[in-house]
Amino acid sequence: TQEKFDAIVIGAGMSGNAAAYTLASRGLKVLQLERGEYAGSKNVQGAIMYADMLEKVIPDFREDAPLERHIVEQRFWMMDDVSHSGMHYRSDDFNSEKPNRYTIVRAQFDKWFSRKVRDAGATVLCETTVTELVRDGAGKVIGVKTDRKGGPIYADVVVLAEGVNGLLGTRAGLRETPKAETVALAVKEMHFLPEDVINQRFNLKGSEGCVIEAAGTISRGMTGLAFLYTNRESISVGIGCLVSDFAREMESPYALLESFKQHPSVRQLLEGTEVKEYAAHLIPEGGYKAIPELCGDGWVMVGDAAQLNNAIHREGSNLAMTSGRLAAEAIFQVKTRRDPMTAENLALYKRMLDDSFVIKDLKKYKDMPRLLHTNSQNFFMTYPQLISQAAKNFLVVDGTPKIEKEKATTRSFVAARSRLGLIGDAFRLALAWR
Ligand code: FAD
Repeated sequence: TQEKFDAIVIGAGMSGNAAAYTLASRGLKVLQLERGEYAGSKNVQGAIMYADMLEKVIPDFREDAPLERHIVEQRFWMMDDVSHSGMHYRSDDFNSEKPNRYTIVRAQFDKWFSRKVRDAGATVLCETTVTELVRDGAGKVIGVKTDRKGGPIYADVVVLAEGVNGLLGTRAGLRETPKAETVALAVKEMHFLPEDVINQRFNLKGSEGCVIEAAGTISRGMTGLAFLYTNRESISVGIGCLVSDFAREMESPYALLESFKQHPSVRQLLEGTEVKEYAAHLIPEGGYKAIPELCGDGWVMVGDAAQLNNAIHREGSNLAMTSGRLAAEAIFQVKTRRDPMTAENLALYKRMLDDSFVIKDLKKYKDMPRLLHTNSQNFFMTYPQLISQAAKNFLVVDGTPKIEKEKATTRSFVAARSRLGLIGDAFRLALAWR
């Protein structure tokens, strides 16, 4: 007879691994299918990894997980073409025994996570693409078909952890194709340097790390953000903008990345590096309003596939791990009660997610994606330029009385946006941030 699993997990990224691990370590019979040559081979991230969310899946992960640096310093830069102004936070508290955030390299990290999934008892098959969901006569998902020889594989429940493209979910009518204004296209490079040079350039010691997030004229009026993260012997540099903005402006992501790297504030940090890896990937940025149905008869959807990504805080992997874990915990509870995996019973996952930071955070920022998208020229071009001019005006000592400097700054803001415009922007931002 055909072998049947308690659960099939599609995808071995952050969400799929968290789900498969949680299910297998509770004794369920799990099959995980990944189209990549190995877990992580297809995955792209900056990458900042949030310890708390991994700790809830694998409490002692620090013992053997491939972590690059723990982050002690965060810079946020608002840039114009020649300068940056910014916020900067560094604390020795981040040097605690259990640091909160780490940089990682996904290819290595996902391999490690996948080993943990296998050790927990799951069957993991790589180089296997799921091509179709299998349903019974009543429409309940009862298994999958793959590109390998042989018939369908059956399970009580299928976890869709297939990432932002989510072709299976889309084809099966469980979610829509993400719209161009709800996904960003990000490009990223790895720049290699000796460890001690990175430490010197970023004022770090040992495995301390520094991350820089940057916005402003570098995205040429499009909704976007650039980043620069220190790994042990490399620096990850990238930039991403909404796909709809790239299409509207006819800009190329590669050209944006090149000009970010050439910016006077960045150039020196990357001097003499050897670029070894290059990647491009989508990021779901539609927020709360873009979240599809999260479960149905015989299936649940987790991570990027379900648009669970907080673009405002640059968080994705933590929402992926949490949704994967909660889906698995809900499945485990339904299974323990010997209840069927119906939409009604699996709605427990949705309730658990609603109660967590995942949905609470996305709900809080539900109006931000639209606000940024419809005002991108102001927020990513006009204001960064004005702020930079104001800072320069404030700092240049040239005999101009301070009162005149202040008046000039106020005049420049009013000339660019008008008094009503300024009040409107502040009001809209405050409303969306609330
Ligand atoms: P993924 O990691 O994309 O995994 C999906 C998996 O499913 C893949 O392995 C894929 O091969 C597999 N798959 C897909 N279809 C099939 C199929 N049909 N059959 C079998 N397997 C399939 N998040 C952070 O928290 N911090 C960051 O610093 C950060 N930086 C980022 C920078 C960039 C440039 C990008 C692109 C993203 C970044 N993110 C960051 C977001 C983060 O990478 C994602 O939120 C996270 O990877 C989502 O995990 P996931 O498991 O849902 O999807």
